[in-house]
Amino acid sequence: MDIIVCVKRVPDVAEAEVDIDSSGRGIQLGTLGYVINEWDNFAVEAAVSLVEAHGGKVTAVTVGGEDDEDVLRRALAMGADEALHLTDPVFEGSDSFGIAGILSQAVADIPYDLLLTGAVSGDVGGGRVGPMLAAMAGIPHVCLATELSVEGSTARVRHEVEGGLERVVELDLPALVTVQTGMNEPRYVSVLGIRKAGRKPLRTAGTAEIGLDPDTVGPAAVRVRIDEMFLPPRGEGAEILAGNDEDTVAALVDRLRQQGGI
Ligand SMILES: Cc1cc2nc3c(=O)[nH]c(=O)nc-3n(C[C@H](O)[C@H](O)[C@H](O)COP(=O)(O)OP(=O)(O)OC[C@H]3O[C@@H](n4cnc5c(N)ncnc54)[C@H](O)[C@@H]3O)c2cc1C
Repeated sequence: MDIIVCVKRVPDVAEAEVDIDSSGRGIQLGTLGYVINEWDNFAVEAAVSLVEAHGGKVTAVTVGGEDDEDVLRRALAMGADEALHLTDPVFEGSDSFGIAGILSQAVADIPYDLLLTGAVSGDVGGGRVGPMLAAMAGIPHVCLATELSVEGSTARVRHEVEGGLERVVELDLPALVTVQTGMNEPRYVSVLGIRKAGRKPLRTAGTAEIGLDPDTVGPAAVRVRIDEMFLPPRGEGAEILAGNDEDTVAALVDRLRQQGGI
């Protein structure tokens, strides 16, 4: 079984204080570290585990600049067999539709049974690339998968739906699945592992190699323009409890009692 897994390198905003940059349309990246998008870590683990069980090949793919190659080296260290770095100056500033278009054009030349993406990315959080890619590739898809297994030419997926419900569905392969966090336990990646994975094949390709019209990507082709990005103003009813852990926990319990919460 051949699996393509799309991975994205993102600024690590989970624990950081995030500020808006001078353009007012993005975040200040200066001091932030970069990591594999959390959802993609689970997607790589799912791909590698399925191929370990069924045989086949995992190809990790990213769209990004020179530094984004790191995320492919990491996927290779986790067990992906080969990697494809889609990189071209004209890709910069693309929106999700542009990114999905680049990915769909590139994967059209690679045989696959399953296409995996993260459900969403930790920086922009659009959650749009997976479903758009499935539509462009003309294959069925399911979002927010929490379990994934394959039997013959069918994928069985447990996934989250509205209202806190979960559902189990079956899809004919080839299909695309967007992976939710918590699906599995992503394996540990050591520095040595990343170094050893340096021997695995990593190919780069731009518009010419994948046969993509450059006018369909980049800022000029954007369909969703970011007008403004801002930190939401603190709401009227919000209260930040100050002090050490003991004081804040006591104050929180107090508030909950006052409101009838406990
Ligand atoms: C300089 C710059 C300018 C931008 N301008 C715009 C703009 O004008 N309008 C706009 O809407 N957006 C803009 N963006 C945001 C950019 O389009 C998104 O980051 C990108 O499209 C991915 O969308 P997402 O993060 O919402 O992905 P999601 O849909 O949230 O990601 C889901 C999954 O898709 C896959 N995926 C996403 N991105 C990639 C990738 N690069 N490579 C491989 N797999 C991937 C991963 O598996 C990921 O888990 C800009 C970004 C940059 C850096």
